[in-house]
Amino acid sequence: MKTARGIHLLWICLTLFSCVEGLGQQASLPTGERCGLGIVMEKYFRQHPEYKSEFEKRQQAFQARYETMLRQKAAAPALLQRANAIMTIPVVVHIVLPDPSIVTDDQVQSEIDVLNADYAGLNADSTNIPPAFKGVFGKSQIRFCLAEHDPTGESSNGIVRVSSGTVSVAGQNDPVKSSSSGGSDAWNISKYLNIWVCDMQGGLLGYCFLPQTPGLPDAEVGVVNNYTAFGTIGTAQAPYDKGRTTTHEIGHYFNLIHIWGASGCDASCSDSDGVADTPNQNACTFGAPAFPLTDVCNTVAPGIMFMNYMDYSDDGVMCLFTQGQVDRMETALTTLPDRTPLLSSDGCTPAIVYNIDASAKSVSEPGKNVIICGNTIVPKVVIKNSGSTVLSSVKLNVSVDGQAPISTDLNINLAPFAEMTVSSNPVTSSGGSHTMKVYTSLPNGIADQNAANDTTNSVFSISDIKLTPITEDFETISFPANFWSNGNNSSNAAFNWKRVSNARHSGTASAKIDNYNLNVPGGYADLRTPQLQVPLGIDSMKMTFWLAAALYDNNTSDTLEVLISNDCGQTYSSAYKKWGQALNTHGNGLFVTSDYIPISSEWRQDTVDLTPFALGRSGNFIVTFRDINNYGNNIYIDDVNVRTRTLPARVKSSGYLISPNPFTSQFIIQNFPSSGNLKSIAIYNSVGQIVWYRTYSLGTADNYIPVYLGNVAAGIYNVHMIYKDKVVNDRIVKMN
Ligand SMILES: [Zn+2]
Repeated sequence: MKTARGIHLLWICLTLFSCVEGLGQQASLPTGERCGLGIVMEKYFRQHPEYKSEFEKRQQAFQARYETMLRQKAAAPALLQRANAIMTIPVVVHIVLPDPSIVTDDQVQSEIDVLNADYAGLNADSTNIPPAFKGVFGKSQIRFCLAEHDPTGESSNGIVRVSSGTVSVAGQNDPVKSSSSGGSDAWNISKYLNIWVCDMQGGLLGYCFLPQTPGLPDAEVGVVNNYTAFGTIGTAQAPYDKGRTTTHEIGHYFNLIHIWGASGCDASCSDSDGVADTPNQNACTFGAPAFPLTDVCNTVAPGIMFMNYMDYSDDGVMCLFTQGQVDRMETALTTLPDRTPLLSSDGCTPAIVYNIDASAKSVSEPGKNVIICGNTIVPKVVIKNSGSTVLSSVKLNVSVDGQAPISTDLNINLAPFAEMTVSSNPVTSSGGSHTMKVYTSLPNGIADQNAANDTTNSVFSISDIKLTPITEDFETISFPANFWSNGNNSSNAAFNWKRVSNARHSGTASAKIDNYNLNVPGGYADLRTPQLQVPLGIDSMKMTFWLAAALYDNNTSDTLEVLISNDCGQTYSSAYKKWGQALNTHGNGLFVTSDYIPISSEWRQDTVDLTPFALGRSGNFIVTFRDINNYGNNIYIDDVNVRTRTLPARVKSSGYLISPNPFTSQFIIQNFPSSGNLKSIAIYNSVGQIVWYRTYSLGTADNYIPVYLGNVAAGIYNVHMIYKDKVVNDRIVKMN
């Protein structure tokens, strides 16, 4: 395991609370760190310093409002009784795992049950609250329900499962929160609390951005929860199997911070959580300590409140929010603009079923990883009858890049709530990347009664045809450019070749596959040329490219393979495959245990003879660089050059060609059809002395042999070549 990649935490100062300067040094997280709040908030404001003061202002205003509310409540509790006190939050749980079915509906329900008990103060283990803290035990009016319909109005059980290797990376742009990176897109955050249950990088159990984080996209709002610390059954693992990670994270969602204060685990006694009835606490608590537990802030019993949900104790130890925390959460829910809309959400009312309601669910063809050769595609679309009446006809409309749609009238017989895959009329487009909007209209010949679910979008790209030779130096900012394309067999969209400008053989950039950070063992990422048009009758086809690669250790070498396809990616032949020391350019036997960036001397040019695949064939060839991941280290390529050669007629008739003749410093010997029978070459001067000599084992000579004679005198030289089956003598003239 790559322990060097452990997450580090920069202590965050949420400034509203006292914050000691000088704590801002990197420190390793304690083993079993529960929550990424500090990590994500600190990282966010490091990336967006412009939002920091606005965030502080909002938090200060919130704190003032909260304290005003507490004073009013103390003065006249009855005034603050709500007419309809219970506030139920619709929840959608996105399960993003290679096999998301391992988190069952029952497991999800077990978490909802925990939340409803914990937030109501009806948790059975509240009997464990020490008598000294019973007086501040808080019981909130907040409850949770699984959504009963999705944002388009479709019936739902509030659980979305995405089969994906995508792992949560705590912070903004978390790939688990986006379908484009193999995650699951947030549902409308005004109507739903989004919870992503997934595998989390760095061993975190959960994280959540605080409310009122300025500039935070809607798509990032919600709770991320490790699948091993969710619910009470199934994949939940002790000691985090009582559902309290989610209880804790939703505390952050309602603007609670950790009980020891805003800073990291080793805070100080002057550092507050903004809540009056939680004891000051010097640091976070792990495990299952015995009561009472004292620290430097509370030196005598009852000590600190380590059994509070906003500490880090084991799930079985946690058992309360305080009344102050409950008031703070309810103030957040009822006053913060990014939480109050939840109070009027209809997310937990059953879906409205219309009589006539066709919907477009998804585009099944073209898939994301196919190469499209040619200009015509036949989209295949999954449609659903979301209405209560049998669907006998519907119009399917496909619009590419915003152009006028191609419409297809479909006569079908689709039962209520059934789905089917239908084909569109052919759509034509050109080389390059395209967006496709697909929508249904006129179900059973009338206007659709629910337009919210009519449309789905997709992207595809058409491989263009390029004449050889081609060169690619990856200098174009967009990537892949010049009709190159990416592909991979993993649902992790981050697992792709990317253009980087921190390493290059020449120019300013190269293409990199990040095997150091991406853990997709056995997964492959392809970087493909456009279709290369090879004329009939070529004699050789070669590719050269520059390469830099390092090994993390002996056991995790990734593989670079070059594949060639002449049937538009249906089948591939391997032309080059290297791993381990054969791939390594960093230095024989040397390892790199950090994120590898090559220096200029670490680039090597490799040559791939593509002749066997192209000889005697015409048509279009796609050359593919395939990285096969083993979670090792990075591979870079640059300055790719694919060229074909058609030999002069003379070389074909005589079987060899020496050119140029006369020459000045170097000439080339070419053989046809190959140099397989060549055993030796000797160059003699006019008095019979050998000036250049090479011998070859049968089958090893290149059929393009440069002979450098820059350091001999001008004059006539004899070329003497011995083959297995013949001897050739020729003459060549050197000029000054
Ligand atoms: Zn936390």
